[in-house]
Amino acid sequence: MGAVLVECLSCRRRYGLDDIESSRYFLPSMICYQCYGQWQQKPQRESCFGKDRPPLGLDPTSPDCQACPDRLPCMAVLGYYVQLPRWQSFCSRFERHLAQALANVEGVPPSIVILPSKANDRLRLLNLYVWSLRYAVTVEFLLRVLLDKYRNVRQPSNGFATLGVRAATLCGVKSRQWVEDVVAKAYPNGENHLAYRSAMIMRLAGMPRISGDILQSYGTAMERYRQRYYQCAERYYRPWRGNPWRVL
Ligand SMILES: [Zn+2]
Repeated sequence: MGAVLVECLSCRRRYGLDDIESSRYFLPSMICYQCYGQWQQKPQRESCFGKDRPPLGLDPTSPDCQACPDRLPCMAVLGYYVQLPRWQSFCSRFERHLAQALANVEGVPPSIVILPSKANDRLRLLNLYVWSLRYAVTVEFLLRVLLDKYRNVRQPSNGFATLGVRAATLCGVKSRQWVEDVVAKAYPNGENHLAYRSAMIMRLAGMPRISGDILQSYGTAMERYRQRYYQCAERYYRPWRGNPWRVL
């Protein structure tokens, strides 16, 4: 068995490269096959994952299925042909985001940021992405919290900006517990999750864009936004994970 590197967003079990390559862990959603299996067993009104019966079953052309974070794995288990991203390209995409976040934290240009290049470490760093989703905080917030925690053991780097800590330490279970404590103190009433939820609603409903005669445009834009919001809210009735309109 290979090293366990990146944790499931839902059950927190960790998975390795061979699990990703054999579809026991899905990078597009950061969720493991074991969790998906349980969701597929649940009744349709609790989870629409992996169901093909109408009216709540998978419909790849519907807007609610397109907004669902589990769309690709759902299609895969139902036998559709889906092209899952290769782990290298998935990591590269996240690393661009991470490099920018590290540059912001250190106050340096992103061009001098150097991130770990070994496969295992690249996958370990994806835990920062998992945590940013689970705790509804930015990667920059996580870096500030963790780099501050490890400030006494960070290795200096000449002329470059690096993490200065091993990826295994930075993304280990102790770091996760630390992040959980800090998030619980920083957002005692779950403000982070509320902000995440409303940002998602804004994105799905479409934000009004204003130009020209401000008052008139504002009225028209808000009216359009209101109509779209209610249309969307009516449409998004499927029980997909993270559906911001759905109240359980
Ligand atoms: Zn899982």
